[in-house]
Amino acid sequence: MQNPQTLTIAVSKGRIYKDSMPLLAAAGIEPLDDPDQSRKLIIPTTREDVRLVIIRATDVPTYVEYGAADLGIAGKDVLMESDADSLYEPLDLNIACCRLMTALPEQASHRQGCLRVATKYAKTARWFYAKKGIKAEIIKLYGSMELAPLVGLADCIVDVVDTGNTLKANGLYADELIAHISSRMIVNQASMKLKYNAIHDLLDKVATACQKPAA
Ligand code: AMP
Repeated sequence: MQNPQTLTIAVSKGRIYKDSMPLLAAAGIEPLDDPDQSRKLIIPTTREDVRLVIIRATDVPTYVEYGAADLGIAGKDVLMESDADSLYEPLDLNIACCRLMTALPEQASHRQGCLRVATKYAKTARWFYAKKGIKAEIIKLYGSMELAPLVGLADCIVDVVDTGNTLKANGLYADELIAHISSRMIVNQASMKLKYNAIHDLLDKVATACQKPAA
């Protein structure tokens, strides 16, 4: 049976996993399997009382809100879009940094009427255009947003931008900044009370590691 004091940390594969593991290592937590090599979804670590669950980035807030994971590592873009509203967000890890932006075709034709916006960030886009008083039809997509203006599906897109190379390669340019994005440590509210010492110790060690310049 699982020790009731075991900490479960939810994390997604890819950029966030790669950048967050050196930070968790500062708290003595190193995965014993590589999720890219293994099909296991629960990964034990060098600390017997800590395990990782490997899930989709957009599912991380849900696992943490319901307490299936005590902690999670999620991008601010995912948190803004999530309906999980009872999470603690105590630590900005300053990793996987990028910007959530609107982007337009370089040769945009003059728009009349309702703006059509393609994005996987439907909730955030709706909020952004409403705040600006712009009437927008939000078209929800699950990937390759850059294609939408090129084939007449949308006038513009809302997406995360790092170097801007993907936009450029598709004849688009970044226009308005919606939010600066980085990954955050999130914590389940009940876990924060019930596992207070273990969670605080982990957050302290990770926070110290975040402040150190990369070796
Ligand atoms: P870039 O060409 O460097 O601007 O990267 C743009 C693409 O990389 C976007 O369309 C995203 O899919 C992805 N991307 C860049 N940064 C991040 C990030 N921090 N988190 C998630 N996806 C990202």
